[in-house]
Amino acid sequence: MSELRKDLISKKWIITGTQSEKEFFEALNLKTKQEVGECFFCEGNEAQTLPEIYSIRKYDTRPNMPGWQVRVVPSKSAVFKIEGEMGKVGHGIYDLMNNIGAHELIVESPQHIKNICELSIEQILLVFKIYQTRIRDLNNDERLKYVLIFKNQRPKSIFRYGHTHSQLAALPLTPKAIKDELLSARDYFDYKERCLFCDIIRQEQRDKKRIIEENPDYIAFVPFATKVPFEITIMPKNHNADYCSENESSLRNFAQIMKVSLCKIASVLNDPPLNYILHTIPYLRPRQGYWKTIRDDYHWHIEIYPQISEITGFEWGSGFHIQPLLPEICAKILREAK
Ligand SMILES: [Zn+2]
Ligand SMILES: [Zn+2]
Ligand SMILES: [Zn+2]
Repeated sequence: MSELRKDLISKKWIITGTQSEKEFFEALNLKTKQEVGECFFCEGNEAQTLPEIYSIRKYDTRPNMPGWQVRVVPSKSAVFKIEGEMGKVGHGIYDLMNNIGAHELIVESPQHIKNICELSIEQILLVFKIYQTRIRDLNNDERLKYVLIFKNQRPKSIFRYGHTHSQLAALPLTPKAIKDELLSARDYFDYKERCLFCDIIRQEQRDKKRIIEENPDYIAFVPFATKVPFEITIMPKNHNADYCSENESSLRNFAQIMKVSLCKIASVLNDPPLNYILHTIPYLRPRQGYWKTIRDDYHWHIEIYPQISEITGFEWGSGFHIQPLLPEICAKILREAK
């Protein structure tokens, strides 16, 4: 059974024990040998994944058969497991917890396409609607506190994971990175009585220098203090803390601005590996007024990180990110890219 363990010094939780020794070295070997297997995610290979959890498919087709447009399956190397007891226990001075949760893969296309930006806006819209469906569905499990949706895009990968997909991790706790963001938003709101993210949007619209793209509902910009070159944040222009409450017409505009932003990154940086992470509110389980202002102080958004530079020892050790290009220059290059 895998475990969550807390590092007492940084106060961060780590996930460990997700693989056996054998699995770990087999995977390592596979990576070095660069073996190409058949893609589990392509239409026709449904039997090679675990049984599907959800899919959007033609009305006369059956689950786990061809005929789907988007398909959700459990991860075989699940970092979290849905079965078992929650239990937080102490071990001497240390804290650890069973790794309860869900780890799902959202396969975004039946075809072997490697970059989500090559899909049509309508297809991307289906994917974004499935994010909402899965977050809502997992809310029924009282043990879960947060759903993190993210993508590790590896367009050059010859493995099955080169096939465009996103991942969902439903967690028994709110990750520290999210909690830090929630607390920072609440502090700002307590002090100014305004949403921090709405203020950032207004500042970016005044400065104009870091904006890449806007449509009626969304703004895409390079943040003022980026962690990596060509990082992009996309926010809804109308205040909203909860991704799940966006309607279809807004999600279509979200699909449009994502497609444009990701295509620009692919064109400027020669289709690099990248990650994106959706940040929305946690499940609001009752906890003595803890979430009193969250719908006013938090604002959902997506963060896109092209992986083009390696993390240096200084960055690991200091927590300072070194970003060689000024964010304004990155924004200009992306804005002008086709
Ligand atoms: Zn494939
Ligand atoms: Zn806001
Ligand atoms: Zn964020």
